[in-house]
Amino acid sequence: MKKRPFTQKINVRVAIIVAVIGVVLSLSGSLLVFRLAHDKQETVSYRLIDQLAASAVKTAAIAAYVDDEELANEIINGLVMSDMVSGARIFAGETVLAMNIANSDELAAVSPIERELYHPFNENELIGELALYPDTAFIRDMALQEAKGSAIHIIVVSFLITLIIAGTLQYTLSMPLIKLKQAFETVDPSHPENLKKLDIGYKRQDELGYLIKQINGLIRAVRANFLAERKLRVHTEKLEQQLRLLFEKASIGVALISTRKGILIENPKFNHIVGTASSLADFIGIFDDPESVSSIIGSLKASLHSNPIGLDLSYQEDGSRRWVHCLFATVSDQRLVAREDDDVLFEVIIHDITDRKEREAEVRYQAQHDILTGLYNRLGGEKRLQYLLSENTGEFSCVFLLVDLDKFKPINDNYGHEAGDVVLVECSHRIKTLFNEPTDVCCRWGGDEFVIGFKREALPFSALNTLCNTLLHSLEEPIEVSSDLQVSISASIGVALVDEAGKSVEHWIAKADKAMYDVKSQGRENYLIK
Ligand code: GH3
Ligand code: MG
Repeated sequence: MKKRPFTQKINVRVAIIVAVIGVVLSLSGSLLVFRLAHDKQETVSYRLIDQLAASAVKTAAIAAYVDDEELANEIINGLVMSDMVSGARIFAGETVLAMNIANSDELAAVSPIERELYHPFNENELIGELALYPDTAFIRDMALQEAKGSAIHIIVVSFLITLIIAGTLQYTLSMPLIKLKQAFETVDPSHPENLKKLDIGYKRQDELGYLIKQINGLIRAVRANFLAERKLRVHTEKLEQQLRLLFEKASIGVALISTRKGILIENPKFNHIVGTASSLADFIGIFDDPESVSSIIGSLKASLHSNPIGLDLSYQEDGSRRWVHCLFATVSDQRLVAREDDDVLFEVIIHDITDRKEREAEVRYQAQHDILTGLYNRLGGEKRLQYLLSENTGEFSCVFLLVDLDKFKPINDNYGHEAGDVVLVECSHRIKTLFNEPTDVCCRWGGDEFVIGFKREALPFSALNTLCNTLLHSLEEPIEVSSDLQVSISASIGVALVDEAGKSVEHWIAKADKAMYDVKSQGRENYLIK
């Protein structure tokens, strides 16, 4: 610690101040006392000389009355014996009766104390005068001695008082303050847990006692706060660790995105899905349907109060399609905290649903496809044909074929159901080969019955005939059921030309069915266009 100058110590400063006040007071006091004592002593001396003159005035009057020079000299000599009197003179009338003056030159400057002498029997008759000359040098010396003594007395008393005051101040104020300061020096604010109550043994209930009590109260509060804060910090750190673990190891992707600044924070799962994308545009661009994402973000920007919006989105990863469920929501503090311009902060939660999507697709596929042949079943076929019709409206837009195998039942009967299945699978394969899925719709309508729907476009009638013949011939090719069994089958085809808008799938199937039955009734193995 930096050493403070000597004069900055409170006890030294108090001592200096008290000493200065003591010196000033004692000097001015002693000066005043000196003057007073000096003046008083002079006054007393002159009064004594006056009394001396008064005591001798009667005898001097008698000496002047009888003109007794001897008596007069005796009186004067008696008076001059006093240290305060340096000379005396008795006048009888105008003449000097007796005189004792050692140095008349010195006395010329001294004013005498004079007393008039009256006739002993007639108090109104002035007969002479008694004059006493004060020994001014003696009186001054005596006054000086007296004044000096008083002044020294005052100085000694002042010095003692100053010492007592300084000692009292030192004991009552400076020492406790110094002890308090020394106790404070042991306080280490960098380790509040070690803070201890300051105990300097000061028991008085004065301002200093109050100050110490308040300081100890503060120390107690600081320590308690620190301990509570440390406990809270440990708890917060633990919580933060758990949250961080949750955030970093979560199987769902979480990110905070600003419409102006892009991805602000993201967890590893989010980063795994989104990759290097950092701007909002990059993020939107990774999805196969960026328009939907843009529109969701647009609606979130338009209304900060809107509920979270969820959406299943697909994206490409290493050449395969993956699915995520994205939940978009604005961050709720935006109603309170203003952001720059049109910046909107929203959170995105991404959950990988590829497995579910694949399972759903599988279930959907199974629901809409025939297990044996892999063609659409009636349910799936109807939907696809409906879609075909809705996409191609107007006259002669589509063609529906209804194919029924001829005399299929005997194959089952003769070679077994499995052989019949092989025939159905092979016929389906040949139908598929002739048509272009997914534009053309091939489905197993039931049993040995197949429906094919396709867009007619500019297909001329002759081409339709060729197609039907090709299909017939293809199906008539021998089918290898097993290594030692080949079967041949034919088919009857009813063709419905969709020549009217607004009719249902059932309508056109019924039309094709009717044509097919006409073929059956006319001997099978043919086609008929209706
Ligand atoms: P037609 O020439 O009049 O059409 O006579 P058909 O023998 O082909 O008789 P039809 O079309 O009325 O009957 C179809 C038969 O197909 C009836 C049924 O036993 C058989 N069948 C239906 N589904 C299956 C199947 O999944 N596997 C096998 N192996 N046979 C089936
Ligand atoms: Mg049949």
